[in-house]
Amino acid sequence: MPKGKDTIVVHHAAGPRSQDADTIKKAVLSRLHQPAYAKIIEADGQIKDFAGETATDVAHAKGFNTRGIGVCLAGFFDSAAVIAKTAPYMPEGYPGDVLDLEDPQGKALVYCLVVLCERHNIAPSRIIGHVDTFDLLGVKREKSCPGAQVHALLGKIRKRVTAELAKRRASAKK
Ligand SMILES: [Zn+2]
Repeated sequence: MPKGKDTIVVHHAAGPRSQDADTIKKAVLSRLHQPAYAKIIEADGQIKDFAGETATDVAHAKGFNTRGIGVCLAGFFDSAAVIAKTAPYMPEGYPGDVLDLEDPQGKALVYCLVVLCERHNIAPSRIIGHVDTFDLLGVKREKSCPGAQVHALLGKIRKRVTAELAKRRASAKK
């Protein structure tokens, strides 16, 4: 019996931040032949649907496809040096993206996580990065996804989501 979703896995598309959701979807489908993330967040903060939130026939993180909801940020949140070394398909000299929680894409990510936590009754402590799934499974890290910069921001993101959920609960009681 499927137990529902208990984890949210944050990803980056590992491509230029200017990619729109349709481009990201097309790339995923041609590579994996099935949808991956439930949501894709574009650079301007637009949240687009991809796989359904409860879909289990998805491929976004080994070991977490059944229990995890994938949320993907357009962009590549590693350093220029890492990108040059690991992603030969990227434009030469790509500087690496930086997510700012005050920017539209950062705000949209927090909003999206709040809604998903609330709707699926997931604790903010269960918001993890794709890279964390390898550690949790005890296997070698295959990817840096969602990029070192976003990964380092996850603690702050969980705190914001927690605070926002508390605010929503308080106002629902009024
Ligand atoms: Zn990923």
